[in-house]
Order: sequence, then structure tokens, then C-alpha cells
Amino acid sequence: MSNRLDLSNLLNEISLRITAYQLSQVIEYIKLLFEANQTTNLTAITDYNEALVKHIYDSLLIMTLPEFKTAKNIIDVGSGGGLPSIPLAICNPEKRMVSLEATQKKINFQNTVACKLQLINLFPIWGRAEEVAKQVDRRERYDLAIARAVAPLNILAELTIPFIKLHGYAIFYKGKEAENEILKGESAVNTLGAEIIGVQSFTLPCNYGSRVLITARKSGLTSASYPRKPGVPKKKPL
Ligand code: SAM
Repeated sequence: MSNRLDLSNLLNEISLRITAYQLSQVIEYIKLLFEANQTTNLTAITDYNEALVKHIYDSLLIMTLPEFKTAKNIIDVGSGGGLPSIPLAICNPEKRMVSLEATQKKINFQNTVACKLQLINLFPIWGRAEEVAKQVDRRERYDLAIARAVAPLNILAELTIPFIKLHGYAIFYKGKEAENEILKGESAVNTLGAEIIGVQSFTLPCNYGSRVLITARKSGLTSASYPRKPGVPKKKPL
């Protein structure tokens, strides 16, 4: 087995600090993810170091951005097995993290993790973004909406921006395709009341690839006609 990478050292290099307790919790989360993955499809990654970089380090990169630092009430849309919501909830106990996912088995896993790791700031919700974003207590209620590996920007904008408060933000985890997605998706972002204000590129350690974080700011309320019915944003992107 190859030597285990030291997450704290990797994070120090980008000026991020986590406590020994938070480190033990993210390691426990990887263990639970790998165990549950035997029966529920949560991740294609089975190597510890690869999971540490591509899931945990990658999820935490957003902590370098000012729009994340100031947010108190966050929603992760399409969080699957809890990425990036669970590592972020572990390392930011003062922030409230709502973790929305359409597949019930995945939400059951997130609830198990929340219980075992006593994550009182993590709130897994089972539902589709198109429906949950219509609920009055969820619509335009969040300082920040985030999403990783859910859909191209022209679809994702409709699944996330309705959740954000006026003057709040969305941050999208993207890869090399970011530039193309912005070309195709910027008008959808604008239609929903937001504008793209930043694009930051990061290199993952140990040649595990790269990450681009796209930030959008909400400058107007979202029209009540969005999001459209479940499946429509994907079938007919804005
Ligand atoms: N964000 C996680 C990650 O980075 O590992 C999961 C990525 S997975 C490829 C995409 C997830 O988004 C799936 O679990 C899927 O069920 C969820 N999803 C897709 N469309 C959704 C929607 N409209 N509402 C809620 N969840 C959705």
C-alpha cells in the first residue's frame, strides 16, 4: 500500500487549517463512504489517497474564497454521498449546511454519517431541486448555493440560483470544461437573476488533476416561473 498522504500538510500549502479532531472526522467519513460503497453506488474512487485529494481536499478548496467565508447558511444541491457538504460541515461547524439530494439511499447514508460523526450543522434533505426550490421556507433563503458534478452550467443555474437570497452567491465546482460551460450557460445564469463574478483555477496535489470554481452573485430576484417542473431544466436548458 502506498504511504497515506497528510491532508493537513496539503491544506497548509493553500493556507487552510483544520483541527486534529476535524482531520479524524474526515478520515472516518472516507471509511464510512468506502464501506457504504460496497452496497450503494456513492463513488467510483476506491483508493484512500485518491479519495483524500479528489473528494476531501477538492471539497475544501472553496474555503479559500471570500464568498464562502462570509456565508452562514449554505445549500449543496445534488450532494450524492455528501460531497462537498460533509467535509465542509465537518471543517466549518459554525456554518449551517443543508445537503439536498434526489436519491433516498444517498440521503440515508448522509443521515448515518451525520449521526455517527455528530454533525449537528448538517441537514440532509431528500428531494429534487426543482420542487424544493418552490417551498417558501427554502426559496431565496440561502447565503450560498454550491454544487459539484451535478449538471452543465446551463442546467445547474436553474437548480441552484432560485435557492439564493438577493445579493447571495452560487459557487459551482467545474473542471476543464468550465470555459465552454460559461459560454453556453452565462445567459441562463443572467435569466435567473445572477451574474458570473469570478473564475478561479486550482491544481490538485499529486497530479490528481485540476479544479475550477465559478462564482455567481445574485443581483435580482428569480422569476416565479423558475425552476420549471422536474426534468424540464435538463430537457430544455435555458
Ligand atoms: N455532488 C456529489 C459529488 O460530487 O460526488 C454527487 C455527484 S453525482 C454525479 C450527481 C448527484 O446529483 C446525484 O446523486 C443525483 O441524484 C443528484 N441530482 C441530480 N439532479 C438533481 C436534482 N434535480 N435535484 C436533486 N439532486 C439531483
